[in-house]
Amino acid sequence: MTNFVLKLTTHYMKKLFIGLLLVFATCSLGAQVNIVKNNRSVSKIICAPNSQINLTAANILQRFIYESTGCHLKIASNITPHLNDIILGGTTPKEVTTDGYALSTEGGMLHITGLGNGTVYGVISFLERYLKMDYWSDQVYSLPKAKDISLPSISFIENPTFRYRQTQNYALGKDSIYKWWYRLEEPNEVFAADYWVHTFDRLLPSAVYGPSHPEYYAYYNGKRHPGAASQWCLTNPDVFNIVVHRIDSIFKAHPDMKTICVSQNDGNNTNCKCPTCSQIDKEEGAYSGSLIRFINKIAERFPDKQIATLAYLYSMQPPKLVKPRKNVVIMLCDIDCKREVSLTENSSGQEFVKALKGWSKISNNLYVWDYGINFDNFVSPFPNLHVLQDNIRLFRDNHVTMHFSQISSNRGGDFAELRTYLVSKLMWNADADVDSLTQHFLKGYYGKAAPYIYRYINIMEGAIIASGKDLWIYDSPITHKNGMLKPTLMRRYNELFDEAEKAVANNQIFLDRVRLTRLPLQYAALEIARTEPNMDTEKVNHDLALFEQRTAYFKVPSLNERSNPPAEYCQLYRDRYLKQNDKNIALHKPIKFLIEPSDKYVELGQKALTDGLYGGTTYVESWVGWQGKDGAFVVDLGETKQIHRAGADFLHQLGAWILLPRQVSFSYSTDGIHYTSWQTVNIPELRINKVLFKNIEAISATPLNARYIKVEITGTKECPSWHYGVGYPSWFFIDEVTVE
Ligand SMILES: [Zn+2]
Repeated sequence: MTNFVLKLTTHYMKKLFIGLLLVFATCSLGAQVNIVKNNRSVSKIICAPNSQINLTAANILQRFIYESTGCHLKIASNITPHLNDIILGGTTPKEVTTDGYALSTEGGMLHITGLGNGTVYGVISFLERYLKMDYWSDQVYSLPKAKDISLPSISFIENPTFRYRQTQNYALGKDSIYKWWYRLEEPNEVFAADYWVHTFDRLLPSAVYGPSHPEYYAYYNGKRHPGAASQWCLTNPDVFNIVVHRIDSIFKAHPDMKTICVSQNDGNNTNCKCPTCSQIDKEEGAYSGSLIRFINKIAERFPDKQIATLAYLYSMQPPKLVKPRKNVVIMLCDIDCKREVSLTENSSGQEFVKALKGWSKISNNLYVWDYGINFDNFVSPFPNLHVLQDNIRLFRDNHVTMHFSQISSNRGGDFAELRTYLVSKLMWNADADVDSLTQHFLKGYYGKAAPYIYRYINIMEGAIIASGKDLWIYDSPITHKNGMLKPTLMRRYNELFDEAEKAVANNQIFLDRVRLTRLPLQYAALEIARTEPNMDTEKVNHDLALFEQRTAYFKVPSLNERSNPPAEYCQLYRDRYLKQNDKNIALHKPIKFLIEPSDKYVELGQKALTDGLYGGTTYVESWVGWQGKDGAFVVDLGETKQIHRAGADFLHQLGAWILLPRQVSFSYSTDGIHYTSWQTVNIPELRINKVLFKNIEAISATPLNARYIKVEITGTKECPSWHYGVGYPSWFFIDEVTVE
C-alpha cells in the first residue's frame, strides 16, 4: 500500500516539477491529499446534511479506513472544510449520469460526488483504487493494512453502462456492503410496491374476477381462460379501466416511486386470440402488437411515470406499426437462447438478436433479462463466463439501459461468487478487461489455487464449444457426458481440483472455497454415474457420502429452482439408483404399448421403462412421456409367474408441465386376452413446485398368477387454470416399471 502511494506520488511529483508546479500552487486545482499519515488521521469526512446516501457513503468510508489504518476519521456536516478533508456530496459535474460519480482532489481536498447512489459508488471506487480493497462474497473481503493514505492529484468521472443493474447472489440479502460494492439494485427499489414482472394476475386477479367476468381473460382453444398464467383480453375496455384505476391507487400509495410493471403472466401462448385482439396482432405482425397498444394507453394516463412490460416468449418479437411511448420500458427476455456461445453465434441467439434490434429501433428504453443459470441443476457446471462480455456489449449497443442477469447464485451454485463479480463489473463497464478481472478474483479468492481453477475454467470453455452441444437453462450434466463432461475431461478437471486443493492445503479458508467450487463437478459425476450400466457402486457410495457431507458443511440450500435440498437428493439417490431391486422380474422385459407415448418417446419407451435405470429430476433423460392423452401398456414377463406387486414411477415437475396422472389402473392376465382387474389408484392433484417421484403400485397379499400386467393411465391431459400452461396439453412421465 505504502509503496504504491509512494510510486504514484513520485510519478506525479515529477510531473509537477516538469512545469506545472507554479500554476498548480497558485490555482490550487488538483493537489496531493493526505488522509492518513503514519497511522494518524489528518482528515475529516464532511458530508452534505440530510442526505442518507452521503451518510451511508461516509459510514462505509470511515469503517474501512479505520480497518486499514486504525484511524478513526470524524464525520461532520455544516463545518468549514480544511485542506486534506474529504467532502462527500455537493455539486455534481454535468457529465455524471445516474449512479455515476466524480472524484477529484481540487483545492487539496478529496471530493466525491454522484447522482443516485453515485456518492457511495464513488467511495467504493476510492477504496478499490487507493486502498486496494476487494469484496469477494458474504462478509468476505480483502483490505491491506496501511500506514498512510496519500492521494496524487486526481480528477475522474465514471458512469455505468446501464442505469439499472440487477443480478443475484446469496450474499445480497445478508450483507448490505456486498450490495453497495457490486453496485446492484433490487426490483423493489425501482418498481412501485414491487410490481416487477408477471404482474397481470396481481393487478387483475383471476381468482377474483375470473368467475364473474371470464371475458376479461384470454380466449384461445375455443374458450376464455381466466387463470394465474393466462393473459388478459387486451381489447376489453373494462380491463383497461380497472387496471388504470388499480395502478393509480398503487402510485398514490407509493408517491416516490416512478415505475410500475404491467406485464404478462408466466405462461406461453396464453395470450388472447379473440377476433379483436387477433386483428391487431395480425396488423402488427406480432403478438406484442395488442400488448404495446394497451400499454401505450396506460402510459398515456401516467405521463410522469414509467410503465414497464415484458417482451417474453410469445411477445418477444416487436410490433411492426406501433412504437412504445417514451415512458414505456420494454423488458426483453432471452429465455429460449442457448448459452455455449455468444447470442450472435447460434440460431436461438440470433432469433433474440433480431428481436433486440427490432425493439431498439423503436425504443430507447430497454431492459434486458438475460439468463446465465441452469434452473434444474444449480450445482452443476455452467460454462458461460466467456459469453458474458459479448452479450452485455450487444445489449449496450442496442439501447439497453436496464439489465437483469439471472445467474446461479445460491451457495454452491457454479462459480456463484466469481459469476456475480464478473457480471456486476461488466454491467458497470461493458468494456472491462474480463480476463484480468477473472485472474484478479481467482488470485484474491482462491490464493495459490488460482492457476488451477483458471485452467479448469478455460478447458471447460473450450470443451463446451468443441463438443457442439448446446448449453441450456434446463440442462442436465448427462446431456454433456459425451461432450464437455466426457471421462477424459472429467479426469483432467479432477486432477486440477486435486492440485488446487493441494496448493492451499495449509489454509482452511482457501481450501473451503476450492471445495465449495468443486461441488458442481462432483454433482455432475454423480448424475452421470447413475446412467452408466455398470455402475461402480462402492465408488458411487463413497462419492455420494462426500457430496452429502460437503453440501451440509457448506450449507448449500438447494440443488435447483424447485428447492430440492442436497440431503434429499442424496437420500433419493440411494433409494432410487443404488438399491438393487433383486425381486424385480420385469427387468429388460418387453413393453407393448396400447396407447403409445408422444412421438419422441416411442423409441426410447421400448427399452427405458424396464432397463433398470431410473430417470432423475430432469425429464431430459430416461423418462418416457405422454402429452395431452392417456397412456396404456402391457409388460410381458415371458411366462406365467407368481406376482404380488407391480409399480410405476411418475415424475412431478410443474415447471416442465409434467403433472401426476389422475388415475392408474393395474390388471393382469395369463393369456394376454382376458384380464382381471387388480387395483385402481386415484391420485390427488399436487400443486407444489418441488420435483417429486411418485411410485404408484398395486399389491396383493396373496400371490397372483400372471404373465401379462396391463397398466392404464388417465392423464390430466390439459394444464389446469392455476398452472403456467393453462388450457394447453399437459404431460405425464414414467420411469420405471417394476413387477415383483
Ligand atoms: Zn381479446
